Parts: sequence; C-alpha cells; structure tokens
Amino acid sequence: MKVTKNRKPWMAFMSVVVWMVCVLVAVGCTSQVLDRPAIPQESPIVSKETPIVSKETPAVTSSATMQPVAESPAAESKTKPTAEPAASKTAAIPKQGRLVMLDPGHQRHGNNAPESVGPDTRETKPKVSSGTVGVRTKKPEYVLNLEVSQLIKDELVRRGIEVAMTRESHEVDISNKQRADMANEAGAALAVRIHADGDSSPKTKGFSVLYPSASSAAVKPISAESHEAASFILKHLKSATDTAGRGLSARSDLSGFNWSKVPVVLVELGFMTNPEEDELMSEAEYQKKLALGIADGIEQFLKSR
Ligand SMILES: [Zn+2]
Repeated sequence: MKVTKNRKPWMAFMSVVVWMVCVLVAVGCTSQVLDRPAIPQESPIVSKETPIVSKETPAVTSSATMQPVAESPAAESKTKPTAEPAASKTAAIPKQGRLVMLDPGHQRHGNNAPESVGPDTRETKPKVSSGTVGVRTKKPEYVLNLEVSQLIKDELVRRGIEVAMTRESHEVDISNKQRADMANEAGAALAVRIHADGDSSPKTKGFSVLYPSASSAAVKPISAESHEAASFILKHLKSATDTAGRGLSARSDLSGFNWSKVPVVLVELGFMTNPEEDELMSEAEYQKKLALGIADGIEQFLKSR
C-alpha cells in the first residue's frame, strides 16, 4: 500500500494515541487472564483440618481421627493403645515424619459436584462417589473400605506407628482432593487409600496397588517414593494372602493422587463384582490377612526412609 506523506500532524498524533490505547487494553486483558490461577492451589477449608495427633509417647502408640464435619469425639477412645510392647519392633522407624494417613475410600452419599483432577489440568471429576457394591454380599464399597482400614489402623497403632484417618464414619462429605490435602496438611510420611474394585466381568479378581504416574508433573516429586511404598505393600499382600494379585498400576487420572504432596498409594483390595472375592473380602480371617499385609508394607516403607 502507498504511504500517505501529506497526512496532517494531528491525525498522526491521534493514530498513535488510538494505537497505544489498543495495546494497553490488550495487555491488560491478557495479564488478567494469566494472573488468575486456573485452579486454586489450596482449599481454604483444609487449614481447619489439621489432624490432632498425640505425639507425647511416639514409642508406644498414638492415633487420631480427622473429621471435617462434626463427628463424635468418642472415635478416639475406641483406639486406645494396647499394652503390646511395640517399642522394640519399631525402634528402627525414624520419629520424624512417620505419620500414616489412612483414607477409607468413598462415603455413604457421593458428591457429584465437579472438582479439578489436579493442578496441571482443567479437567474435572465428581468430588467423590459412593463406590461399587458387593455383587453377592450387597455390601457397599465404602463400608468394606472402612472395615479394612480400621484393622490396618489397629495393626499400625499396635506397632507404635502414628495413624490418622480421613474418616471413621460413613456420614461425611470429603472430596478426593480434600483427602489428599488432609495428608498434605498432616505432613504424612505416606497416605494409603483403601478401595475395592469393580468390573463388568464377574470373573475379574485380585488385589492391586496403584501409585501416581511420574508422567504427571505435579506428582513427579512423590512418584518414586510412592512406587516404592506400593511395591512393599504388594509384596507383603502377596505373602499375607498367598495369592499373586494383579500387580502395580501407575495412574495419572486420580484426583486423590494428583493433589498429593506426600507419597501416596491406593490399594484395591479385590473385586466386589466377583462373587467369590466379594464374599472372601467380608470374611474376618481374610480381612485380617489383607490388613496385616498392608501394615507390613507400610512398616517396611517407613523403616526404609
Ligand atoms: Zn473405590
């Protein structure tokens, strides 16, 4: 295009002014978008959820329950330490950072409100679901998860390991991100999420241990340690139950992993959609084996740190 040379000075001045206004508006809008975090870094509710963990006698036992909703304080008295002399067995476990956060998966009523899957993505998932159901026992997964978690807790406490739980009741409303935040806030050495599986085929069975995939940037710092913990737990689950299980699985799609800043694993105890395994998982003997295997794996992880 031909440049006009005989333009009047005031017109040139106005062009510059208009151009500058356009640039300022554009920069202003862009920085506004960039400055606004896509995903909130911390849930404001979480600061109130600091676990109450007794640290007076770490050599003996201690335990605590964290409940973001009003819960009976009686829960704590249920887990009074036994007289088991656990001190010698746990002497090798460093006192610092050895709290284990147990998270019995799901709750009575799911919460379908969307929640960000992780700090690196705008993808959302429901905050928490109510889980699967036993095909033969008709037991909801959230009930089984808490039954086994309580046994694991008792076993860890007996060994002198500090334990906190995200819930000890079904009447809670705690999202998967909030559960991760609870472990973060507590500075847990390890978070262990307890779940049971479901599948369209009734033949599928066996336990598995999930850990956060290193492919997700947010969990890279905890991926190696989580993998190590998962390996220990799988190994001890195999020997406790005398079955092979389905192995380890790296996952990048779980909100409860992606928001975690502490090593985290998820144990799928078995398939509630397999009639035999569904029944087995509700037998006291088998539950005890699962709990012992998981506790052994946790203890080995803590000792290895
Ligand atoms: Zn589940």
